[in-house]
Amino acid sequence: MKNSLGWGLIGASNVAREWIVDAIRAQRGNHIRTVLSRDAARGAAFAQACDIPASTTDLDDILRDPMVDAVYVSTENALHHDQVLAAARAGKHVLCEKPLALSVHDAQEMVDACRAAGVVMATNHHLRCSALHIALHEHLKAGAIGRLNAVRVFHANFLAMMGGWRLNDAGGGVFLDSTIHDVDTLRFHLDADPTDVFAMAQSGRRGAAGVEDGIMAVLRFPDDVLVQIHGAYSVPFAPGGISFFGEKGVLVGRDCMSQRPAGTLALRDGDGERDIPLVHHNLYHFALRRFTQAVAGEGRPAATGEDGVASLAIVLALKEAARTGRQIRVGAT
Ligand code: NDP
Repeated sequence: MKNSLGWGLIGASNVAREWIVDAIRAQRGNHIRTVLSRDAARGAAFAQACDIPASTTDLDDILRDPMVDAVYVSTENALHHDQVLAAARAGKHVLCEKPLALSVHDAQEMVDACRAAGVVMATNHHLRCSALHIALHEHLKAGAIGRLNAVRVFHANFLAMMGGWRLNDAGGGVFLDSTIHDVDTLRFHLDADPTDVFAMAQSGRRGAAGVEDGIMAVLRFPDDVLVQIHGAYSVPFAPGGISFFGEKGVLVGRDCMSQRPAGTLALRDGDGERDIPLVHHNLYHFALRRFTQAVAGEGRPAATGEDGVASLAIVLALKEAARTGRQIRVGAT
């Protein structure tokens, strides 16, 4: 099994430029061979800026290259499905951005295609890679706050850039862009999927009419655990965080719903509030390490393709709840 991987980047995206190029190169022997862009000039500029030897406008150039073992798909959401199916057919391992697709059917097809091809597929849900969330999960499992009553997630911020697919396309909006990370993080912490969900949404503050730029959601998880999420693009200066309320105390994660290796974790109980020590690490380095280990036959990616399908199914149920005003049952575990 191989762990020095040659990579093709499918998408000359911001997230690739800011985080993933560096995270790939942080893995011993991993290197990037090509980047795909629909725009030849943008692809060439991206390749030059990131010191990548080649760029192309033709996906087949990447998929035919025998030195490419794995692809990172970070194009606009509507494009992931066809690109991942093509990569699987070509026998490439796949790290795909969330949301995997715009429908559960398409996302499941992607997972099935990778399984049939015998390649690793991962979803880039980065929050479960954070040192804070890993420590929080360990404290929950160890019973630090006893039986859980409720969880509150604060993931509202301000999107300065007014243009772009996030604010204007059916493939954008807070649910698919950001709430999907919250849902994946909740699934990670609770080791379960919710049974019922409800949501209300706003639009027109930062995004186009009909594209959600603010949401409030309520989810019921097994053992009758209630969860509340506030997500937005339209709220400046809001602190991000997550709080778990148990029968014996509260675990409070502050400044921990972003891409940065930051934040504090505190335990509040009858002895007062005290910080839990953390050693932060780069979330994307962690994700890429787990991915390359999985390709080498050691363990699973931090978030699998199946995790990507499950989280997508839940945010689509939330979108449906917001659209119809109805509580949606999403299936008990
Ligand atoms: P970008 O808008 O930066 O990139 C998406 C696509 O837009 C690119 O593939 C590129 O395609 C095109 N593009 C890039 N720059 C420009 C430009 N200046 N003008 C016109 N088109 C441009 O998207 P993000 O990096 O924000 O997101 C990409 C994917 O990653 C999405 O699926 C998103 O949900 C996900 N994401 C995940 C994050 C995580 O932490 N897990 C964080 C951020 C995003 P082309 O060159 O082919 O035209």
